[in-house]
Amino acid sequence: MLRNAIPPLLVAALAVGGCSVNPATGTRQLALIGEDQEVAIGREADPEIIASMGLVEDDELQAYVDRVGRSLAAVSERPDLPWTFRVVDDPVVNAFALPGGYIYITRGILAHLDSEAELASVLGHEIGHVTARHSVNQMSKQQLMGLGLGIGMVLAPEMQSLGNLAQTGLGLLFLKYSRDDERQADELGLRYMERREYELTEAAPVFRMLEAVSQAESGGQRVPGWLSTHPDPGARADRLDRLASATGASDGRVGEQELLDAIDGVVYGVDPRQGYFDGSLLVHPGLAFQIRFPGGWQTANQRSRVLGVSPEQDALLELTLAPEDTPEAAAKSFLGQEGLTVTRTWRKSVHGARAVWGSFEVPNTETPLAGRVAFVAHGGSAYRLLGYGRDNTWLKYLSAMERWAESFQELTDPNLLGIQPPRLEIVRLPQEMPFEELVDRYPSSVPKREVALLNRLSPGVRLPAGSAFKTVVGGVGAPEEDR
Ligand SMILES: [Zn+2]
Repeated sequence: MLRNAIPPLLVAALAVGGCSVNPATGTRQLALIGEDQEVAIGREADPEIIASMGLVEDDELQAYVDRVGRSLAAVSERPDLPWTFRVVDDPVVNAFALPGGYIYITRGILAHLDSEAELASVLGHEIGHVTARHSVNQMSKQQLMGLGLGIGMVLAPEMQSLGNLAQTGLGLLFLKYSRDDERQADELGLRYMERREYELTEAAPVFRMLEAVSQAESGGQRVPGWLSTHPDPGARADRLDRLASATGASDGRVGEQELLDAIDGVVYGVDPRQGYFDGSLLVHPGLAFQIRFPGGWQTANQRSRVLGVSPEQDALLELTLAPEDTPEAAAKSFLGQEGLTVTRTWRKSVHGARAVWGSFEVPNTETPLAGRVAFVAHGGSAYRLLGYGRDNTWLKYLSAMERWAESFQELTDPNLLGIQPPRLEIVRLPQEMPFEELVDRYPSSVPKREVALLNRLSPGVRLPAGSAFKTVVGGVGAPEEDR
């Protein structure tokens, strides 16, 4: 978890633009947002993405993806944007772009890629969304309604954001593009790949992989994010194949080894060190604490906070690190906020840890709020345990909030504290081998069907000597997070 900040109100950065010619498509379009504001949106949302998802802690991998991305962006129609490419610490198969040239790819999708050219096709596609100003256009259409991202907001002025946790804050960033936008981004991505002499036939297999991952997971709870915003992968793969062959380009750069070297050792699947739910109990080995949420509440473990929403969606529990180091300083700063009326403060330790509590009201807003907060000392930091709701219903949640806050305690089980995530490991086959023998000789800590999916293999297939084979090692017994 990162210390979270109160986000700047992006709405303020957005003034009215006008009609402009799109550099990538050459068409005139109505845009309420000028380029300066477009860049400002991305620049201001970037820290929120990092705080919410976290970055993969692998400097070489980050540098590699940034290098590939920048080389493509440099040959795009908008080379002068502040292009930034980041690998976010998310197991979901996803990639997305913010206006202004901020592009994110998950470690989840990277594990499924087989070559640098495939990576280039994913990044090129996202670059295409930016150069063609797709999300900015969409924002224009939506008239920039409620553009405050709201991530880490201490007290939302209204509680509508509680409606759907999955959408909290980041919803705006996963706007569905139109089919035309998608086709255009596919074409632009292919254009940038061609300019960098990548092998264009590597683009279509990425969509076939996405389709396979989607089908494999459609019965489960894990929904690959990219698929939800990028529909109909099969038809688009066919179209990309046709487009690629129409260019007549051949023998382009594939870069299998480069990509595999970069992703070898990357964390695969849910990283239990970042916290996971065991029923309603959140266990956080990385920060050595656990806390139990009320049963029946919707919960979400984000990188910078853990949330619980009441079944009636009229009360919220939020655990974050306070910016201050001690409970006393954190309480003073939080309870001293303008607009907030403190009704009482007191000291009461939580499982032996020093803690400062406070009750407060926020009376002068459209929806008057009431709440209770506890600041607990743990690991040299102050943890803020905040509960609040509408002032007319908050009372019925008071005891649930107190039980929740008082369940916060240090994690001491050495098995949990030492838990490690599964990681991707690439092996080279010394000889030709059928899939069945491969999975026996190189056992993985994930099911065979998942190994097959990672390697795009079906039972009965034989892999030639020298082929690269992806295995998943370690992390046995690591919990499956419901997501
Ligand atoms: Zn797209």
